[in-house]
Amino acid sequence: MRKKPYWLITCIFLLVIAVQSSVFAQDKEPTVVSALPGQVPSDAVVLFDGTDLSKWTYTNGKPADWLVAKGEMTVKGGSIVTKDSFGDMQLHLEFCSPVPAEGEGQGRGNSGVYIHGNYEVQVLDSYENSTYPDGMCGAVYQQHVPLVNASRPPGIWQVYDIIFHVARFDENGNIIKRPTLTLLHNGVLIQDHVEIKGPTGGAAGNEEKPAGPIVLQDHRNPIRYRNIWVRPLSPR
Ligand code: MG
Repeated sequence: MRKKPYWLITCIFLLVIAVQSSVFAQDKEPTVVSALPGQVPSDAVVLFDGTDLSKWTYTNGKPADWLVAKGEMTVKGGSIVTKDSFGDMQLHLEFCSPVPAEGEGQGRGNSGVYIHGNYEVQVLDSYENSTYPDGMCGAVYQQHVPLVNASRPPGIWQVYDIIFHVARFDENGNIIKRPTLTLLHNGVLIQDHVEIKGPTGGAAGNEEKPAGPIVLQDHRNPIRYRNIWVRPLSPR
């Protein structure tokens, strides 16, 4: 009777274990981040904690002078921009449309969050206020209509959680993957990893960059903002 090659089976078994170990060894253990529901994660950069506008300027470079009171800031005197730039990011902010609601369509509670200063995620009072769908609250302005309308009434605080990935470039600087954006509005998924087609309005000279600031739009409506933070995300 022929003897079974136990030595060979053992070698193969050990080889499989070794390969698996080396594969697993390449995985980096995730960094510990503490975060209680509704609170700022421990690795976040706080952009507005309710006390001052030290992280912002007006888009013309002058000191930001939006009204800051009661832990909120209210649009006043022009759009504001972060002093710092960010690449891939998770951005959290809260906003509140004016009461009483005034105007209609694009004229009611209009503001906006410009990622990289380029791409507007529309802020609008879209509660019982219709407008063109790709310009309503939660739209990537004139590019992507939100999946649903998750708007709450004016005077009620609302939440945006945005996950944004910058464009990817080849060694010659050509775009091989366009930016993408995911948006949760009041915890509801309304933009699902959509591809950004280009700067809002097609503004020339605003081509995709590896990093850029965040702009909050003054559209002449007194929107209030609070609790703004961003988590820069490292490319994997
Ligand atoms: Mg707007």
